[in-house]
This record gives sequence, structure tokens and C-alpha cells, in this order.
Amino acid sequence: MSNKYENNLNLHTPIIRQYLSIKKKYPDFVLFFRMGDFYELFYKDAITVSDILKIVLTNRGYSAGKKVPMAGIPVHTAERYWKKLLNLGKSIAVCEQVKNKLSCKNKLINREVIQVITPGTVVEDFFLNNDVDNILAAVYKNENKFGYSYVDISSGDFYVSEHENLESFLSELYRTNPVELLCSDNFKDINTIKTNNTLIEYRSIAEFELESAYRQLILHFNTQNLEGFGLKKDHLGLGSAGCLLQYIKSVQKILLRNILSIKINVPKKYILLDKVSRIHLELTKNVLGGYKNTLSYVLNRCTTSMGVRMLKRWIHAPIRDIKIIKNRQNSIKELQEKYIELKFIFRKISDLERICSRVVTLKANPIDIIKIKLTLLEFIKIKKVLVKIKGENIKRIVKRLGNNKEIISLLNSSINPDSPMSIKNGNVIAKGYNRKLDHLRNISKNSLSVIQKFETLEKKILKIDSLKVGFNRIIGYYIQINKKYKKLIPEKYIKIQTLKLYNRYTTLELKKFEKEIISSKFKSLELENYLYYKLLEKLNFYIPFLKISAKAIAELDVLSNLAERAVKLKYVCPYLTNKTEIRLNDSRHPVIESILTHSFVPNSVNLSRKNRMLIITGPNMGGKSTYMRQIGLIVIMAWIGSFVPAKTAVIGNIDQIFTRIGSSDDLSGGKSSFMVEMIETANILNNATSNSLVLIDEIGRGTSINDGLALAWSVSLYLVKYIQSITLFSTHYFELTKLEKKNKNIKNVYLSTVEYDGKISFLYKLEQGFINKSYGILVAVLSGFPIKVIDLANAKLKEIKIKKKITFRLFLKKYFNISSLSFIFKKIKGIKKIFFKNF
Ligand code: ADP
Repeated sequence: MSNKYENNLNLHTPIIRQYLSIKKKYPDFVLFFRMGDFYELFYKDAITVSDILKIVLTNRGYSAGKKVPMAGIPVHTAERYWKKLLNLGKSIAVCEQVKNKLSCKNKLINREVIQVITPGTVVEDFFLNNDVDNILAAVYKNENKFGYSYVDISSGDFYVSEHENLESFLSELYRTNPVELLCSDNFKDINTIKTNNTLIEYRSIAEFELESAYRQLILHFNTQNLEGFGLKKDHLGLGSAGCLLQYIKSVQKILLRNILSIKINVPKKYILLDKVSRIHLELTKNVLGGYKNTLSYVLNRCTTSMGVRMLKRWIHAPIRDIKIIKNRQNSIKELQEKYIELKFIFRKISDLERICSRVVTLKANPIDIIKIKLTLLEFIKIKKVLVKIKGENIKRIVKRLGNNKEIISLLNSSINPDSPMSIKNGNVIAKGYNRKLDHLRNISKNSLSVIQKFETLEKKILKIDSLKVGFNRIIGYYIQINKKYKKLIPEKYIKIQTLKLYNRYTTLELKKFEKEIISSKFKSLELENYLYYKLLEKLNFYIPFLKISAKAIAELDVLSNLAERAVKLKYVCPYLTNKTEIRLNDSRHPVIESILTHSFVPNSVNLSRKNRMLIITGPNMGGKSTYMRQIGLIVIMAWIGSFVPAKTAVIGNIDQIFTRIGSSDDLSGGKSSFMVEMIETANILNNATSNSLVLIDEIGRGTSINDGLALAWSVSLYLVKYIQSITLFSTHYFELTKLEKKNKNIKNVYLSTVEYDGKISFLYKLEQGFINKSYGILVAVLSGFPIKVIDLANAKLKEIKIKKKITFRLFLKKYFNISSLSFIFKKIKGIKKIFFKNF
């Protein structure tokens, strides 16, 4: 029965019929259906959205013989709800009532979708998070290669890249972290590897076709070919770029105006970081998904939103280009004298990047325009502060700030500095900018004084001092007179309203004034509106220059911020090399040192091709994982240009950073924590190179001791002998420390502790060698285990040790003559030789 009703539109009420026919065109959008002062949601939309937004779900209405699930929100609150939905990765279609004679006759108001809002295509300030890039991306899978493009609609940055394998693509995907991802429909696996809340939209593979994409891009950029952008016809990223453009066009064509060029991203330009490493190293998000105690949280004291976003971008994209990084380092040194002065100026700088996008798409409000002017005026002050700086990089930044005289003068002459937020009620265009507007404004102003004169005259003629001329929206201008003067009212007065004490009148003369005032006001508002949008069009000419300035100011803010961090946090400028090496003297963990109440114990490291693996032992809570992460973070900091927490630092060229830290499961994805551990390790073994930094914090803990040890042993040998990566390997399998004797590239180190009176104290100091105790029970004491459990654990430990000894002796007695012990050792040695030969 239900199918019959669902399939047959005719069985529905007219309004639901209208709803269903519109919804059919927007099946993947949450459809907000305007009904009077409310937006209504029906059926599935109502059910899901009422749950997400915590709004009431009702079932009162009937259509096609069935109850209609329904939820509504008042129109004036809609944007708040839309923002929430966008943040959760939902797209929205807004269906409004539009006047239409034909449908009025049918007593059903016509409705149309007049706006679609998707997470990756919004530019309005209200919907965006100031501190985060808002990325729309597209990926095209061609066998095992990938073409990837992304655009930040709110800045217009448009990048394209091609990837030889899945890992390279994934690193780019996690680096850019899009909110919306268009995906060729041959790539369904994307759902299992995407980041949370990314809205995936499958598009037909035809939309990624290279030839038509090439043509689309040429058309968009109005060029003969794409050589000027360095793009060849067979660049795999082209298909995804074409699909992106097509999609933006279908959502809101005007947004395309913000995309002025396309740049190629070469994946090898950056240190590759996989998703797990970005999570484990807590770069911009902590493991709980928050911002606190991340690398960005410590490094970011940027003043402008543009700076905040750029720093986050840098943190996720350490660049493997010494020249670029040395430029940044030099600038940071130079800005150490200037950052305080600059900070005061930065505070007055607005988000020029995002304002530009609103100008281009004609969505900028008058305050946005005033902010452009005020920001450009601050540039003059910045230039003064930097005038004596000699470094090429800062000079280039200053140059990019541009000479903005022309635009400042245009804005001075065109916009009233006290403009309201909206153009709707006028008072935005400056006096003197347009003669006709001034004339119309004068008429309406003069008319007001005419009204005042009229009032004075009428008072005099009628000799009624309390006579008043007023205005309201319903009856327009009126003369208000107390009822007690009824007899004095002349014939020409026409009564238009009666109140308790007063009567209200009009006259032909007053009506004429009213008409003049209203028409001049209406005309001036209309003209002002026109002039305002003309001005936005005019400003479009300056947008490419303003965008360059916006990037320059963001960079200056980041560099000046890093200068401040270096001074305040006592960071040192790392010496960068092209070798594979990491040599840190007294290094610290940037985040842990900022949250500790006691002082952080610095540790050194000396890793190179020769000393390429450290086997780290020490008790739980002894500082092993802190030490490993601090080295990973310092490498990242160095290659974004930041100074680093160490006494001295020499950091070589690292191509990728891999981490295998902690034991998280992915039960919803059907993976136990041991499976997750194995997948992460397999990823390292398959993709690390001799230039990679590999951080492994425990391996094989989720299986039996023997299996675990065998895996940890073989993984470490594979890394040191075959891959030859720089590796830090922390473990509780003390057997692994024996590898030091087998391979000269391995060194044992441990994090020291003192044990006194049954208690353990952590020293956090790294020492050469190893310790063969995990102090697990002592750490349990510290964590507050009930004493009874500790006693039981100690007793069990003793029993296990004694049993082990006895079993070993019995084994020797049973199978070997005790005198043949040397023979057994020879046998074991033989087995080991064969094992090592295989590696
Ligand atoms: P492990 O990995 O050995 O279990 P962690 O690295 O997680 O130990 O360190 C546990 C805690 O010890 C950290 O959260 C921090 O509070 C403290 N810690 C670690 N390293 C140091 C250090 N070098 N100086 C001071 N405190 C440290």
C-alpha cells in the first residue's frame, strides 16, 4: 500500500505534491520549504534534522493517507541552524515562496529553490570559521593513480596535483582536509578513508574527462591553453579540476569569479605525513578532536585570522626546500626586534582574504568595504616599521603589500565612513560621490523641513499649539489634534484615524508632500543600491592585487608570530642540511613543556645514516613516547621555518614521517586494536624510505608475548637493514636490545628512573644502554590501584618467576643431558645465524 501512495503523486495533498516534486530535484540536500514565517522540513529530512538540531518532530498532517513527519524553524533563526548542518557536512536547499499569478489562481503559492548552500561553497562570514580553511576538493581515480584538486572558495586558492599512489594522494587529502569532496564514482572506497565530517559527493566519471576539463579551464581563465599555469593536457589533476569548476557553476555560478588562477602542487615538495601521523603528533587537533595542547596551540599567537589559517596550513605542509625555509628563518631573526610594534598594527587588520571573496561574489556589506580601506591604511604603518629591514624576503613581502593610493581614494570618496551594516536603508554612499544621489537626498531632506514649516503654519492658522504632524507606516503623514478642538477643524481636513483623545487628519497639500518625500526617498535608495553594486564591480579590478596583499600580510603575521614564539619560548634556529640526519642537543617537547608544572628534562639525539635506529626502553610513564614525538615535532617545526625547542639543532632532509603510537581500535570499521596496529605498521614497511623518520611506540602488544616479540624483532630488523630509515623504536621487549650487538646501526637508549623503598621516581633523562625492568606494578601503585590488587600482583609475579626457572630446569633435564648444555647453546647460535642471514 505504501508504495502505491509514494509512487502516485496525485494521491498527495497539493502542498506535499509540490514539496515532493521539488525534493526530487534535490535528493541529497536538506530541503527547507518556506511556509509563511517558517521553513518546514518533511519526511526523512524532518526525521534526521529534528534529531541533529534538537527541534520538535510532529506527525499531525496527513497526505496520501499517511502521517507526514514534519519539523519547522522560524525563518529569522534559520541561518543558525544552517550553520550547524553545514558543520556536520550537510548541504542545504532553500525553497522560497515566489509570487506567480497562475498559481495564486490555484490557491497554491509557487515555490522555487532560490539558494543552495554546501559546506565547501559558502563565503558568508557567518557560516565560516575564521581560523580554518574551508576546502572544496575533487578526486579522480584512474587505476591506481589519482588526480586531486582543491579550492578554497573564500580565498580563491585553486590547486591541482597528480599522485602516483594512494599514499601520496591520502597525504594530500589529509593535509588539505576538505569539508566537501567530489569523487569519481569508481572510487567508492573513499568513504572508508576520508576524514570525519567530509561530505562525499559521487559524480559521474564523465565529469572528470580530461579533454572537456581542459576546455572548461581554458574557457574559465580565458586563455588559449594552460601552459601559463604549467599544466599539460595529460595532467591527471585536470579531470578533477574540471569537475570542481562544473560543480561550483551548478551551485552558484558567481562563485567562479573568485577563482583567478590555478597552481600545481608537487606532492614531493612536502614532507609526507599520513593521517595517523597527523593525528598522533597532534598538529592542529588533539587526539580527542579539540585544539588545546596541539602544536598549533603552542605556536599560534598570530593576530589576524589570515595568519592563523596560514600557520595551520604551514604546520600541515612542512616544505622540503631549504631555500624557502632559510628565507623564513632569516625573516624570523629580523622580526625579533619588530614583532611587538607589528602586533599593535595587525590588531586593526581585517580578514582581507575573505572580504575579497565577498566583493567578487557581490556579497560584501558596507562594513566589509570600510574594513578594506582601514586595513589598507594600516599597511602604510607596517611599511614604516619594516623600512630598515634589509632581508630579501621581508622586502618582497612589503612589495606585495602594494601601493594602494588609488583604491583608498576611491573608497574615501565613495563610502560613508559611518555606514550601517546593510545597504538596505541607505546612508552608505558618501556625499559628493554622485550628483543625482545628492540631489534626491536634498529633496527628501528639504521636504522634511517643508513638513516642519507646514506644521508651524497650521498651528498658527488654527491657533492650536498642541497640533502635531507625525508619520507612521500604515497611514503615512497625519495631523494630530486633540478632540477638544473639534470645532476648530477646517473643512479641508480629512479625518483618517480616530484615537481615544485625538483625531488624525490629512489634507491634499500634506498628501502631496508625502508623495514627494516617499518618491525621492525611494529613488535615492534605489540609486544608492545601484551605485553600491557598481562600486563592488569597480572594486573587482583591484581584487587580484588585494589578494596578493592579503597573502603577504598573512605571511608577515605568521613570521612575526614565530619570531615572538622563538624569543618567548627560547627556541633556537635549526641548521638545515640535505643529508639524512637529526642532531639535537638538549631538545624539549614543545607542547609538554608548555603544560608541565615541573620543569621539562631536555634530551639529546644524534641520528644519521650510521646511527639510524634507537631502541628505547624504560618504564611506562618514563617519557619514551614524549621523547619520540618531540623529535617528530621538531622536524616538522624546522621545515615550516620555525625555530625549535633545543640548545642546538641540525636537521636534515626528511621525506616522510611515520608514526605508530598508542593503541586505538576502529571497531566501527571492523578492526580490533591489534589489527589497526598491524595495518599502521604495514603502511610504514611498505612506504618508508631511507630518508624517512619512523616513530614506533610499542609493537605487537595486542597479541601473545611470543608472536609480539617475533613481530617487533622482524619489523625493527627490516627497518634498519632494508629500508634503512631513521627509526626510534620504543619497546618493553628487552630481547630487542640484543639487536644492538647484531647491527652497528642500532643503539640502545633508555629513560632513567630511580627506585627507592618500593617506589619509583622518573628522571626522564635519556641514557645509553637499556634497562630490563618495566616497573609495571610500581606504575600501577602510582595510578592509585587498591593495595590489595598490588599485593596480589606482586605475589603472582613471584610465582611466575619461580615457575619459569623450574620449567626451564625440568626442560633441560627431560630433553638434554645436563652435560650437553654447550651443545644447546651452539644449536641456538646456529639458528640465529640462519635468521640474520635472511635479513
Ligand atoms: P611513556 O611513553 O614512557 O609511557 P610518556 O612519554 O607518555 O611516557 O610520558 C609520561 C609523562 O611524563 C608525560 O605526560 C609528561 O608529563 C612526563 N614527561 C615525559 N617526558 C618528560 C621530560 N623529558 N621532562 C619532564 N616530564 C616528562
